Amino acid sequence: MGIVKFEDSLITENPLLNHTDNERNAVNEEMLGNVHISAEYEEAIGEEILLDVRPYKLGSVLKEPLSFVAEVILRLSSAIASGYTITGFFFLGFICGCGIIAAAVAWESGKPLSIEEVEVAPPQKDEVRIKILFTSLCHTDVYFWDAKGQNPLFPRILGHEAGGIVESVGEGVTDLKPGDHVLPIFTGECKECPHCLSEESNICDLLRINTDRGEMINDGKSRFSINGKPIYHFLGTSTFSEYTVVHVGQVAKINPEAPLDKVCVLSCGMSTGFGATVNVAKPKKGQSVAIFGLGAVGLAAAEGARVSGASRIIGVDLNPSRFDQAKKFGVTEFVNPKDYNKPVREVIVEMTGGGVDRSVECTGSIQAMISAFECVHDGWGVAVLVGVPNKDDAFKTHPVNLLNEKTVKGAFFGNYKPRSDIPAVVEKYMNKELELDKFITHTVPFSEINKAFELMLAGEGLRCVIRMDE
Ligand code: NAD
Ligand code: ZN
Repeated sequence: MGIVKFEDSLITENPLLNHTDNERNAVNEEMLGNVHISAEYEEAIGEEILLDVRPYKLGSVLKEPLSFVAEVILRLSSAIASGYTITGFFFLGFICGCGIIAAAVAWESGKPLSIEEVEVAPPQKDEVRIKILFTSLCHTDVYFWDAKGQNPLFPRILGHEAGGIVESVGEGVTDLKPGDHVLPIFTGECKECPHCLSEESNICDLLRINTDRGEMINDGKSRFSINGKPIYHFLGTSTFSEYTVVHVGQVAKINPEAPLDKVCVLSCGMSTGFGATVNVAKPKKGQSVAIFGLGAVGLAAAEGARVSGASRIIGVDLNPSRFDQAKKFGVTEFVNPKDYNKPVREVIVEMTGGGVDRSVECTGSIQAMISAFECVHDGWGVAVLVGVPNKDDAFKTHPVNLLNEKTVKGAFFGNYKPRSDIPAVVEKYMNKELELDKFITHTVPFSEINKAFELMLAGEGLRCVIRMDE
């Protein structure tokens, strides 16, 4: 029969166990007490079996050490009864306790984030706790940070574009395990609701994006706190944190070979823009496409137009410094609305002899959304809205534009289903069918996260990847 092997090395490596040395020693002593069981079997030779202690849910390990030991002894006894030789047990380092971690907290609108020691609770039913390795800043984070056009909700841990590794899983989670490489996604996929079962939709009934929710759906509570005071979640992801707790339906498991410092941008921006073109606008080969907004999302949309074989890709932006960069993404012509004294819609209609075949709006400006719709060709033109509007915005256009057979659509996350579709998008990057590296123009250590905000506010660069381990 097998040997259950004792191994404690990973315990101290788990930063979630930020307890005092005395507390840690106490745990180690308890474990060593169990090793004692094994002494008489020391000579035993056989297959090694790792005793999986996950079912203990050691959230209580330090608060209730006796019940922990009792559980372990029970578990070991049953292993012995089943004929295993016990030389100890394996902790794997994913003790599901509350831990103190560093997270960048937005305390109030528009003020620099401050890196704080935050307690992160264990994952509950259908949740996973993820060690974030890389996260990047998307403009959506900035809207909810400055909260000028959005409902303010503070203190909050922002962040939704990231890559990491599952650290522990809650009850009922069967398709993810500690060690899996994952992308947390701001909109989820329960795989059961009518939307998840539909081929057309990705706006899951249970887990679709909800910008105003600051708690987990399981119990309406936050998993983050400072001295007992809850800190709100953002989009169910809150990735500006060394560890975060996410609903399993918002986690895409990806190829562990994929470099997380690159594919993290598929967790929002690049999938959103690329998918908006290839899944929603669906330009035909040889058609013309206008892209409004040449930030990372817009240039990912342009990339979608390029791979679809668009003949002309017209980039529209108010910031002329975007144009040089956009050339590398296959954008062939540029329009700065500020350079004209007529509406940009008219400029594009004139340039194209009637309008573009497709347009994709990636600005968040309501004016740009309306122009993006009105500049498509009548009869067949399709506009896709991607930018996140202000909460009070209204889309106003003359209905005759619709009678003239122009179509307006919109999509979150490029219409991709996060769990079902994103692993394959990661594979596209691995197979060199999709370029991501050129979107990453800056990287900063976690301690300099506010620099990423400064760059985005200045309209500089595309994605700034934040390295959590520095
Ligand atoms: P970004 O700031 O990097 O890029 C936005 C670009 O739009 C900038 O270059 C800016 O100069 C330009 N712009 C702003 N107003 C304009 C106007 N009126 N006309 C022309 N250009 C204008 O932002 P990003 O991270 O690329 O995000 C783009 C938008 O997409 C944001 O609104 C963001 O919230 C949204 N977004 C939506 C989804 C989704 O699922 N629908 C996902 C991610 C991001
Ligand atoms: Zn985003």
